[in-house]
Order: sequence, then C-alpha cells, then structure tokens
Amino acid sequence: RTLSNDLRRTYVSTSASRRALGGRVAPVFTRSQGFGDRLAILDASGSHTYRELYDNSLGLACRVMEMLDCMGLLDVRGRGRSPLPETPPSELEYIITDSQSSLLVAGHSYSDTLEPLARKLGLPCLQLPQSSSLVSLKSEAQMHSEPAVSDWADRPAMIIYTSGTTGRPKGVLSTHRNLQAMIQCLVLEWGWSKDDVILHTLPLHHVHGIVNKLLCPLWVGATCLMLPEFQPQKVWEYLLRSKAPRVNVFMAVPTIYSKLIQYYEQHFTQTHVRDFVKAVCTEKIRLMVSGSAALPQPTLERWREITGHTLLERYGMTEIGMALSNPLRGPRVPGAVGSPLPGVDVRIVMNTSFTTIAEGNSEKTQVLAGLEGKEGELLVRGPSVFKEYWNRPQETQDSFTTDGWFKTGDTAVYKDGVYWIKGRTSVDIIKCGGYKISALEVERHLLVHPDIADVAVIGARDATWGQKVIAVVQLKQGKYLTLQELKTWASGRGCWADSRQPGVELHMAGSPWTLVLGLAAHKREHMASYIIPTGLVLVEEMPRNQMGKVNKKDLLKLFFPS
Ligand code: ATP
Ligand code: MG
Repeated sequence: RTLSNDLRRTYVSTSASRRALGGRVAPVFTRSQGFGDRLAILDASGSHTYRELYDNSLGLACRVMEMLDCMGLLDVRGRGRSPLPETPPSELEYIITDSQSSLLVAGHSYSDTLEPLARKLGLPCLQLPQSSSLVSLKSEAQMHSEPAVSDWADRPAMIIYTSGTTGRPKGVLSTHRNLQAMIQCLVLEWGWSKDDVILHTLPLHHVHGIVNKLLCPLWVGATCLMLPEFQPQKVWEYLLRSKAPRVNVFMAVPTIYSKLIQYYEQHFTQTHVRDFVKAVCTEKIRLMVSGSAALPQPTLERWREITGHTLLERYGMTEIGMALSNPLRGPRVPGAVGSPLPGVDVRIVMNTSFTTIAEGNSEKTQVLAGLEGKEGELLVRGPSVFKEYWNRPQETQDSFTTDGWFKTGDTAVYKDGVYWIKGRTSVDIIKCGGYKISALEVERHLLVHPDIADVAVIGARDATWGQKVIAVVQLKQGKYLTLQELKTWASGRGCWADSRQPGVELHMAGSPWTLVLGLAAHKREHMASYIIPTGLVLVEEMPRNQMGKVNKKDLLKLFFPS
C-alpha cells in the first residue's frame, strides 16, 4: 500500500519530469506480443531503489505511468472488441520472470489476469484507475537538456522484448545514448516539428510504438494523441476530424492499414464520402508510415488510391531502432525500404564468408563489382545499436561480428539504388532444390490473388527438395481455393485477362509474356515456376500478433510436426 501511494504521488507530480525526457530515462520494462502497454514494469534492474527511481528518472518512467493511468490501457485492448489479439498469461509470466521485474503496474480491469500472476510470483501489483478515453500528450518544452548525472548516456534505459517471431522473445537492453540516437535520426529524417500531431494506436512494448510514435513527438514538443485501443472506426474518425488538434502524422503496421482498408470498403461506399476522405488525407496529413513487417503491395496501392498517400516503408528492429527508410521527400520505391538513416551504417555480407557485398550510410552505398542484387545478411552499426540481450551474454556475443557489427538475421539486397528486405534468414528464406526462395516475395505475389485475404509462406521439410514452399492462406469471405487452382493462377496459364481490369492486361496461355494495353496498365508479374507453392493450408484466420506478425515456427510446428 505504501508503495502504491508513493507511486501515485510520483504520478501526480510528473509535470516537472516533462522537461527531462532526453537522457533521463529510467529503467522501464515493456513487453512484447500483446498488451505490453498495459503493463509497465519499473526498476527491474535491481540496482535502483524505488526512491532513486523517482529521483533519477524524471522522464519516461513517469511518463509511462502517466500514460498507463490516463489511457486505461488494461480495460479495453484485446477484450473481444479489438481486432488485435492479447497475450496468454504464460507469455506474461515468462517476460515478468525473465526481466526480473520487481513491480507490476497495471490498469484496473486487468486485475483478473495479473493478480493471480502477481500472487504466484510474489510481486507487488499496482493498479491504476480506470479510464478509456483519448489522451493527448504534449511535452511542454523541447527536452534536450543534459541530465545532471555524468554517466547517464551509458546507463541502461529500457528493455523491450522482441516480438518472438523466431523463438522466445528476448529482452533487448538499450542505453539512454541508444534511445537518443534512435529518436534523433527519425526526428531529422522524417521532419518532426512541434506542430505535428500524431495519432497513436500501437502497443508501447515495441520500438515502433514507444520510440517512433511516442518519444519522437515528445522530443520535439509535438502532440501525441493516444487511443486506448485500435478500432478502425475510431482511427478513421481521428484521421478525418477537423477539430484541433488535427492529426497530420500517422504510423502503423501493415495489418492495421489492411483493417482500415477493410473498414473503408464496407462503410465508406458513397462517392462523396470517398472524395472527402481522399481530400482530407491528401491535404491535412503530411506523413504516413508503415513498418515492422513487409508491406504488401496491394495494401500500398489501395491505400494510395484511398488517401493519395504513398506509404513510407521503413525497416527496423528492437535491437537497432530504425535503420533503413524510404525518403520523406523524393520517390518511395514500392517493396523497398530505402536507404540508411543518418548515423546508421549498414552492410550486406555473404552469409557464409562475411565477404562484403554492399556497404553504405545515409550518404552513399558502394557495391562490390558484379554483386549488385546479390542476397546476403544485413549487418548494422551505429549509436542506436543496443547494448545487450538481457541476461543472455552468449546470445549477445553471437549476434555481433568480431569487428562490432550487429547481425540482424535478415536477408537483404541492394538493387536500383535502394535496399530490399527478403525476410528472416532462418524462417523466410526457403531452400528448395538449390534455389533460395524469399517467402516475402511469394507472399507479395499471392496477395494479388482476388480471393486471398492474407497469406504466410513457410518452408516445410522435404526429403527430395530439402524444403518445399507451403502457402498458409486465409481466404476472403465465401471464397474457396484448391492447390491446383492456386498453381494454375500462379503460373498464369489459362488466365487470359485480369478480370478486375478487363482490357488492360492480357496473359497469353502458356506464354511468359504479358501484353499490357494502355498507359495506366497494372502489370501482374508471373511467378517463376520454382517459387509456386506446392502445398496449401487454409486457415480461418491468420494468427498474427499485436504487431501484425506471424510466428512461422509455430505454424510449421502446427501443420508440419516432425
Ligand atoms: P524475434 O527477434 O523475437 O524473432 P522479431 O525479429 O519479429 O522477433 P522485432 O524486433 O519486433 O522482433 O522485429 C524486427 C524484425 O521485423 C526485423 O528483423 C525484420 O525481419 C522485420 N521487419 C521490420 N520492418 C520490416 C519491413 N519493412 N519489411 C520486412 N520486414 C521487416
Ligand atoms: Mg528479431
């Protein structure tokens, strides 16, 4: 009880802390895959007392407390109404235990799940009052003042758990310097100013939610409108409303964009409404960003038709913040993730020998002669790269090269002046009969199919081919598809004309050529025969987590246990 009273006092007196975000960030533990933003676990490092935490932090910790309180995060998200899933208690327990957290802070209505867990783990649990309305956060000043403590920069600032896409989530410990670097490069590159207003709809347990969408606006003194949960209708309301503060920046994961598109198709059917949506978005919104997972081309294209915005796709990770981004101004290449952000060095190396294929920074990229377009592992170096995996010294060591580059585990290529992400080397690069197939590329093709709503491509073990390409597919309502139909469609055979654009595109039976008529033609590329799936699994709903990611290892275990 004393503890919660103390924390409440801290919460009430946070106005002084508003000026101190830069650098003076206390250890804040947020978690992944689910409602991390309903749970802030403070002072898990064991090296601070609660008193020190208040005295030293003055920043993010209090800010998070404040947000948790105001947002009522635990009441609403994921409780049946939200289209994004919540995390099972076992995952929560894993993260609380793994982070060695000493205090749980949770919203009121979440007590059912957290209280038994807190009792089981013998941890104090602070409940915050209920509230579910929109909260507007605006920092009072630009928070660039250097803190009093001399070694603030290298102190641990934050642990965020990775999304757990390739295994159990790992705690990523970043220092204040790392955070500062992550924030500063985005502020510069994406042109943040104090007049910006961003609508926040994402969990805070991911760099996307906490750094890109919260700390960046607070850093420059902009306004962040926090929605207590993601609901397509609410998001559209805020994007379109004319009342101040008027949203002019929006960022989300691809799944959120596709949910917004679905809502638009169902509810905004009249022409004048559609014209209004396009006019408001084009005139009032200056930037719309997508990231954290590959942006499907149909989503990019439909979003452009609806809003007039070509989404800015960028690439980042919990361990490094953002590393590659399409430009704020200038051409954004669909399917590519642009160039290195300021301060970030990147390299593509051959997976086996670490021979450099390409190396670049925000100024330029150099490619080894004749190796343009060759795939390799993406390495990253720079001040935003994390300090260590929490309590995993061996994994920390294994994830860096001897000369200090962080190994992302992602396969990338440099081609046509920009970087392209081919997927995670461990689950997205399928080795089939001597070919290396990018699951993301196959997904991009399949998403063009008129009956496919969502798809994840996985590589199942195969005695003859090593691995074979399996499409796990969620169909649009009322549709049905067989493997044979999918193969026929994918190879283009018998597909004389694209039925959705009659007269625009002609596919000649059995021919690799596509005859494109007219300037506005939209070309559907044929899939090379070796990348066409040889297995099809239909699912009612694609199991995506709150960041819109599919755990492909789990899918493989589920459908191809061996
Ligand atoms: P884990 O590390 O636990 O397996 P994770 O890698 O999904 O999970 P995050 O740090 O949340 O955890 O996600 C980073 C990964 O997301 C990147 O390594 C990359 O594979 C993917 N990613 C991020 N942005 C993009 C993008 N624009 N296109 C394709 N992939 C992306
Ligand atoms: Mg990862």
